Amino acid sequence: MAPLRRGELSPPEKELLVAIARGNTEEAGRLLGNKNVRVNCLDEHGMTPLMHAAYKRKVDMCRLLLRHGADVNCNEHEHGYTALMFAGLSGSKEITWMMLEAGAETDVVNSVGRTAAQMAAFVGQHDCVTIINNFFPRERLDYYTKTQGLDKEPKLPVKLAGPLHKIITTTNLHPVKIVLLIKENPLLAEAEALLKSYRVLDLICEKCMKQREMNEVLAIKMHYISCIFQKCISFLSEREDKLDGLIKSLLKGRDTDGFPGYQEKLIRECIRKFPYCEATLLQQLVRSIAPVEIGSDPTAFSVLTQAITGQVGFVDAEFCTTCGEKGADKRCSVCKLVIYCDQNCQKIHWFTHKKVCKKLKDVHEKQELEAAKEKRKQGKQQKRDEAQTADSSSTSEEKSDHHSEASKEGDTNHAVDRTEESVLDKEPAAPPPHPDNWSESETTLADIAMQKVQKSEE
Ligand SMILES: [Zn+2]
Ligand SMILES: [Zn+2]
Repeated sequence: MAPLRRGELSPPEKELLVAIARGNTEEAGRLLGNKNVRVNCLDEHGMTPLMHAAYKRKVDMCRLLLRHGADVNCNEHEHGYTALMFAGLSGSKEITWMMLEAGAETDVVNSVGRTAAQMAAFVGQHDCVTIINNFFPRERLDYYTKTQGLDKEPKLPVKLAGPLHKIITTTNLHPVKIVLLIKENPLLAEAEALLKSYRVLDLICEKCMKQREMNEVLAIKMHYISCIFQKCISFLSEREDKLDGLIKSLLKGRDTDGFPGYQEKLIRECIRKFPYCEATLLQQLVRSIAPVEIGSDPTAFSVLTQAITGQVGFVDAEFCTTCGEKGADKRCSVCKLVIYCDQNCQKIHWFTHKKVCKKLKDVHEKQELEAAKEKRKQGKQQKRDEAQTADSSSTSEEKSDHHSEASKEGDTNHAVDRTEESVLDKEPAAPPPHPDNWSESETTLADIAMQKVQKSEE
């Protein structure tokens, strides 16, 4: 077949693009059966049907095209965009995942040197950034299941690759969740298997830090999982209740408020033990966690999750108290303060929650009352302030000076808070490029629209 060139579309290929735009999978399927339709044909910008489908968030269409042999790494686009980049820009988590599973390269850059993760971050598609940054191709793990160099046997038994890969690619890093995932698989849930696995994780961590395209996010994630594995080994060898004992320790709340102190300390310790102290991400983590007293917010878990998944607004979403899974919606019927994914998670937590459930309920009700009072007070204060500001702008300078001095003091605390926050808000692995550095060649739709307007005005 002749090499594909931009803009040379046969009539049925043009029809295919129309069907994709309309999301008509049936029609697209019919057209893909036509021998005059090439699945990787290029429109005048070098976009393939798959890129169109990804950008337009057509999940079924993407699946159909991949099944028909669409090349996920086609790179003929005029600005070097790939299907994964379009998926990330579109904000579709499902399509982003599908492209990765289909073998999309994550480190390919467009004509101005941006990766798919960086582009998704730039347009605020943080869930897609999370997916791309946490993706770890199975082949990279399978490498360790083969004998290398002078080794007598592979570093990782083949049977462990599957269960270990599942844990590596999880975006929920809650230690209880990791232990549950280990327990779920009898092959992995024994000391010897965990030992081999954590050594491989350490090797991957080292590789992430030493390769040219350093990946601190993945390195810290691997290191963290490795630490949890090591903890599992010590519980397996020292405790009669084995991994259940570890889960209990992780969940056990202190008497006063049920805060899981052991869990907090363990996560902090894991972070502190990260062997590459010069890593920027590590320093950010330490800066965010160190000043926080144990039991206060943010927890080490939330800081770590934010850093690794790039999730913003972590606190707002609903997470299972036991295992940290997102989207939990079953509340404790008594205190209505803790949320779980399901009854199983609630059951695991009850041994410790029952000690504080009633107390939490009372405290919560009191807090609500006080918050309502405070809100009323603030409302009044604000009104008074507004009146005063209007007043001071027209009266003596001395008075307004004094006023600004006082408000400055109050503001400093806010400013500090905000810096801390902004550290967390950033995508550590893929700092969004400054708009000024963003390509000139990447003409945005807005630019095109502007040009059109200018032309019509001339
Ligand atoms: Zn749960
Ligand atoms: Zn409760």
